Amino acid sequence: MSAELILVVEDEPKLAALVRDYLHAAGFRSEWLADGRLALERLRTGPMPAAVLLDVMLPGLDGLEVCRAVRAFSDVPILINSARVEELDRLLGLELGADDYVCKPFSPRELVARVKALLRRAQGRLAPVTLVPAAGGFAVDEAGQRILWHEQALSLTPVEFRLLRQLLQHPGRVFERAQLLDLIHEDFRDVSDRVVDSHVKNIRRKLAALDPPQECIASVYGVGYRLDAA
Ligand code: CA
Repeated sequence: MSAELILVVEDEPKLAALVRDYLHAAGFRSEWLADGRLALERLRTGPMPAAVLLDVMLPGLDGLEVCRAVRAFSDVPILINSARVEELDRLLGLELGADDYVCKPFSPRELVARVKALLRRAQGRLAPVTLVPAAGGFAVDEAGQRILWHEQALSLTPVEFRLLRQLLQHPGRVFERAQLLDLIHEDFRDVSDRVVDSHVKNIRRKLAALDPPQECIASVYGVGYRLDAA
């Protein structure tokens, strides 16, 4: 079971670094974004973090707008923080769907305690994760956009997730690079078959890091790739 991921959205680098240090010390993983619009995009397209720490005053899009937009597609726990008490009043008045808030300046220790409390509450409300068994001892968690090999979760980008899922769902079938390219929506601007190769290379590297290493993606010369289930 890998550590839970917390997305830190904060435009003050020093504060973000401090918060992340405390999160890591408490056993969490973290990602940091300093721009509201990028944070929203990240939450729309990437694997969902366990919780979001959201500053209000942000470049791009303010935290309240981010919160409102996220609630249209996700129940991810959101902890808002702001230096301005009147913003927090506004936040509560608008009922944007934030789960909790803290006033700046806050103690990082208190922030981490709030995150833990948020996750405990969220666990009671979230549906259990459904793992769909796939070929070769793998399982696909569609809701969490994760792929596991026995108990070990692979840390995949969204594109890598889609590619590996496709191969796993059709073991033994050869996919041409062009077919796999259709799965890589983000990279349409760069429409070289080599893009597929570089993603497959990264997936293979991650499979090789499993214990024991898995080498289940076969290259089919001149055509593409195939998953060989053990
Ligand atoms: Ca700020």
